[in-house]
Amino acid sequence: MPDIIQLLPDHVANQIAAGEVVQRPASVVKELLENAIDAEATSIQLIIKDAGKILIQVIDNGKGMSQTDARLSFERHATSKIKKAEDLFNLHTKGFRGEALASIAAIAHVDLKSKQENQEIGTCIKIEGSTVVSQENASTSKGTSVAVKNLFYNIPARRNFLKSNAIETRHIVNEFQRITLAHPNISFSFYHNENEVYHLSTGNLRQRIVAIFGKKTNEKLVPINEVTDVIEIKGFVTKPEFAKKKRGEQFFFVNDRFIKNAYLNHAVSSAFESLLSNGYFPTYFLYLKVPTKSIDINIHPTKTEIKFDDEKTLYAIIRSTIKHSLGQYNVAPILDFQRDASMDTPYEFKGKKSGTPKISVNPDFNPFKNEEQKSTKFQYKSEKTPEWESLYTGIDVHAIEVDVEPVTSSLFSESTSNSKTYQVHKKYIVSSIKSGIVYINQHLAHQRILYEEFLENITVKEAMSQQLLFPLEISFNKSDIVLIKEIKEDLESVGFLFDKILDDTIVIKGIPVTITESQITIIIEQLLEDIKNDIPDASFSQLDVMAKSLAKSLAIKTGTRLDLKEQEEIVNKLFMCKQPDLSPFGKTTFITIDIDEIDKKFNN
Ligand code: ADP
Ligand code: MG
Repeated sequence: MPDIIQLLPDHVANQIAAGEVVQRPASVVKELLENAIDAEATSIQLIIKDAGKILIQVIDNGKGMSQTDARLSFERHATSKIKKAEDLFNLHTKGFRGEALASIAAIAHVDLKSKQENQEIGTCIKIEGSTVVSQENASTSKGTSVAVKNLFYNIPARRNFLKSNAIETRHIVNEFQRITLAHPNISFSFYHNENEVYHLSTGNLRQRIVAIFGKKTNEKLVPINEVTDVIEIKGFVTKPEFAKKKRGEQFFFVNDRFIKNAYLNHAVSSAFESLLSNGYFPTYFLYLKVPTKSIDINIHPTKTEIKFDDEKTLYAIIRSTIKHSLGQYNVAPILDFQRDASMDTPYEFKGKKSGTPKISVNPDFNPFKNEEQKSTKFQYKSEKTPEWESLYTGIDVHAIEVDVEPVTSSLFSESTSNSKTYQVHKKYIVSSIKSGIVYINQHLAHQRILYEEFLENITVKEAMSQQLLFPLEISFNKSDIVLIKEIKEDLESVGFLFDKILDDTIVIKGIPVTITESQITIIIEQLLEDIKNDIPDASFSQLDVMAKSLAKSLAIKTGTRLDLKEQEEIVNKLFMCKQPDLSPFGKTTFITIDIDEIDKKFNN
């Protein structure tokens, strides 16, 4: 048999590569704008005709290219941005693959003009379908202009698949917005069929957002600002009342690069939890800076997905930063008791030991008060996690005042020793508070408590597990086993320990401390059911479903008698929750009745 393998000719290889890089005119816009930014341009023009189908041109005032580089830039894997493999872990440019120009030139007519600052005369190259048609001297100003004409002229199938001008233009506008939002220090203009669509002068972030989305946006923005060791977050979210029915304006930038990340998106949404009604999405513009070493941009050719080293920590930081900012701007609802600073403590910080309690001088100290009423100031030693400190802008972390008494001490009118709770109809826990009376639904409140405990275990802490004396075998059908394998890691993070997972049986050797052995089968079955019904797409929503499902299964039921200690525990734990007023499924967990209202009833 003769040998049959051949190397593909370059122009064919380029066309194949082009299929990955260039899906539509907007992809060309993105690549050309990014090249201009990498060339350190301060002013960039985008000109398109007929939704980019006829012409896409980007003109920049960046550093330009020499004659040889201009020619080389169209070779595949030709790049000036990385030299060796290690550079991939220290990227400061948008491009690095050296594929874009080669790919574009394989499927369009390209005119490139470029001149470096110190050159007398520039160069002009014309390429059609990977073939250089001409290269000559040209008089041009400093910088580069790339004009891409007749995209997909040699791939009719692709060209025919392009959508209407309106849709392709929308894609281009989206790319343009993502890039211009990431670079407010560069001026941009955008012309479509000779009409100016955008003219964006340089300015700060707020000015750029307003320039793109309109003057009204200004009043809607709540600033976000947080610096920790692992991440720096700045940007804006919009106030909940301006939330949108569509998922539209949600922007994450990591090191000035637009990214999509369902997990981090969930962190933002969950910070808005219960401030938005169902079906509404928060608008946000969030700029994250992380060490280049901690991300991997290389996993997707069009580079909107990136991988972080430690997503769970980022999740917790983003969520609590946004919650904090919404709170500071008085956007979040204010409950009728004083929130203790410790209640806003992010999970990780809360999980840490407080170190040796150090008693400092308390100016309010009154030696004649009862013993129980004295409060001690704990010195929070932030040990290994200095990054959390900065979460408390305006609060001196080194002297966070933590009452030794439960947090509810500020909620209940008298000192805890005589603040009694009662159970009514084996359903509600009733107690007197400063402003009147609180009724707590025991089942819903307990759901909230368990839900947050599970989430905390999943996202941050090591869960507590109890070893079973005898490993427990449970049978499942094959498809359930597949699902269990998928969520095994998550189950472990809440405290399940697996001995084996076989084809139709699982063997469990440890369970979360909150569960008793007899409940396991029912709980796992319920969990699988819930996950199947929810069809979660992002990994986090699966965790969320799991936490909800477990909370629902395990919460104290209505009709259960609670002794005083159990009642108090529910009250205390509920008000230490981040979102005490709602169950994980959005139901009201407690109501309060003001003393005024009660007074009124007597004054008839
Ligand atoms: P990459 O951006 O991944 O390096 P490209 O194919 O987009 O690959 O570009 C190849 C090379 O051409 C770049 O590395 C850069 O040196 C040069 N280049 C492209 N566009 C410009 C520009 N607008 N200004 C200056 N140099 C450019
Ligand atoms: Mg590039």
